[in-house]
Amino acid sequence: MPRVAIALVCLMWIAFVALRADDSATKPKILVFTKTATFRHDSIPDGIKCVREIVGQDVDVEQTEDSSLFTKENLSKYRAIVFLSTTGDVLNDAQQIAFQDFVESGGGFAGIHAASDTEHEWPWYDEMIGAHFAGHPAIQQATVIVEDRKHPSTEMLPEMWPRTDEWYRFKRNPRKVDGIHVLARLDESTFEGGGMDGDHPCAWWRTMKSGRCWYTAGGHTKESFSEPLFREHLKQGILWAAKLEKPIKSATIQGESIR
Ligand SMILES: [Zn+2]
Repeated sequence: MPRVAIALVCLMWIAFVALRADDSATKPKILVFTKTATFRHDSIPDGIKCVREIVGQDVDVEQTEDSSLFTKENLSKYRAIVFLSTTGDVLNDAQQIAFQDFVESGGGFAGIHAASDTEHEWPWYDEMIGAHFAGHPAIQQATVIVEDRKHPSTEMLPEMWPRTDEWYRFKRNPRKVDGIHVLARLDESTFEGGGMDGDHPCAWWRTMKSGRCWYTAGGHTKESFSEPLFREHLKQGILWAAKLEKPIKSATIQGESIR
């Protein structure tokens, strides 16, 4: 090999290594919080593995059960915090102030399943999560009606999305809460024990000052976290909350046949 070619290959290698190092140094971080004070879902390890797999290309994923990490200084390292089936009273007063400040100053929140069975007595969290868990019937299949397919977390979903999960009912209808944008609801005629008078939202978003908040009610079962569409829904919800979403595909550019 001529010396010039060897030098060129060496330079390219150095540039490649430097770019990769730079990439990992500047990769945004998210925190997956899994502390449980009441019920503990046995799907939590599957959920953690899933989140690492789906957003690991875009962000560094850290996971904790330690609420003492909820300080202003520590939370400022993260773009978003995922509450993955947390339950009960998991944050003390000082930790609540740090978390509220994190969200309101532009940090993201993504809540999965029992995130709505968390901090029932904290009014700010109740407003942020939109609706708190009230109960559920047995695990069964239901049809999810995707109402808004313009959001990154729902644009890949079919309008009618049958899937099996534990379907939460809520203490109030989040659609009636100011600021909540419903993404999907359950068709209560397709399963037993809906209990929301025929309007049963199951995924939604809102903002709290500068922060984006996203919630999906699914994710009880271990199997949920290996469903391709549910994984994509989660991935895009988390990235959206972290303000790292990709522009959504345009049907006019991609062609009508894409859907
Ligand atoms: Zn559950």
